[in-house]
This record gives sequence, structure tokens and C-alpha cells, in this order.
Amino acid sequence: MEKQVLDLDLHKGDRSFADEVCASPGGDTLSLCFQCGICTGTCPVSSVDQEFSPARIVQWVRMGLKETVLQSRLIWLCMQCHRCSFHCPQGVRFADIDRVLRQMAVEAGHLDPATAQRIEQSERHLRRLRILVLERCMAQDPSDSCEFEDMVQHSLGEMNG
Ligand code: SF4
Ligand code: SF4
Repeated sequence: MEKQVLDLDLHKGDRSFADEVCASPGGDTLSLCFQCGICTGTCPVSSVDQEFSPARIVQWVRMGLKETVLQSRLIWLCMQCHRCSFHCPQGVRFADIDRVLRQMAVEAGHLDPATAQRIEQSERHLRRLRILVLERCMAQDPSDSCEFEDMVQHSLGEMNG
């Protein structure tokens, strides 16, 4: 995927953005972040997409980079697994903050509601697919070298069947 170059001009910062997020249900822990980066180090999405960093998104919000954040594909990548919150020394609940940002992005017209709903549905399908693929892995004879793609195909067939 093409690398997204972000406009980080602080002069364009919207100082009220962080207050707006903090005041929204679920966004109240934003101000507790002290940028240790532990969340990013424990995030399963960050481990496969180096552009995704919950710590950086929190920082951008606090810098007031409203348009940059709300237009970014990155806020849609969080799996909502809450692993980062478990490890965060400050009790920041990034997944909840991210949901606030998604809602704001839809309200601001950066993504249409139907697409946002499709993303949510896709998340549910992917979680189901993950379980089916893992169950297939566990049931497989260790000497059988079934390719990952084949397991996904079979699992998709099971889901649709
Ligand atoms: S772990 Fe918590 S305090 Fe550290 S950067 Fe992430 S959100 Fe901020
Ligand atoms: S909730 Fe989102 S940001 Fe936090 S660890 Fe899970 S995928 Fe990463």
C-alpha cells in the first residue's frame, strides 16, 4: 500500500480538537497519555503495519491535527482488541478514543456512513474467519503442508456455506 504522507503543519493545529475528543463519551482518557509508546509496542496492528501507531494518533489529536487525523485511513485500522489499554501505564483507552475519532470522521463527511458500516461488518467477518482458520490449523495433520491461502479459501467456503 502506498505510504501516506501526512501534513503536520502545527500552524494549522486546531487547539479545541483534543478538548472535543476528551468531552466525547469514551474520549476522556486522552489527556492521560505521556507518550511512552508502550501501546504501539504491544499492538497487533502496529506489528504488521508500521504506519499504524496508537501513541502517534493520540499525539496528533493533542497537537490539534484534526483534519489530518479525521482524514487518515489509520483510524480505521484499530481492531478494538484493547490490548494497548491493558498495557498502558496511564489507563488510556485508545480503542474508545479511536471510536470517537471514527464517529467524528463520519460526521465531518470524510467517510460515508454506509462505508463505515461495511467496515464494521467486515471486522465481524474477519473475526469469524480468524477462528475458522485457527480451528483448521489445529485440526490439520502436522505433516500436511496445507498453504495459508488454501485454509482461508476453505474457511471462507465454510462461512458462506
Ligand atoms: S501506552 Fe498509554 S501513556 Fe503510553 S503512549 Fe500509549 S496511550 Fe500514551
Ligand atoms: S485496541 Fe487497537 S490500537 Fe489498541 S492494541 Fe488493539 S488494535 Fe492496537
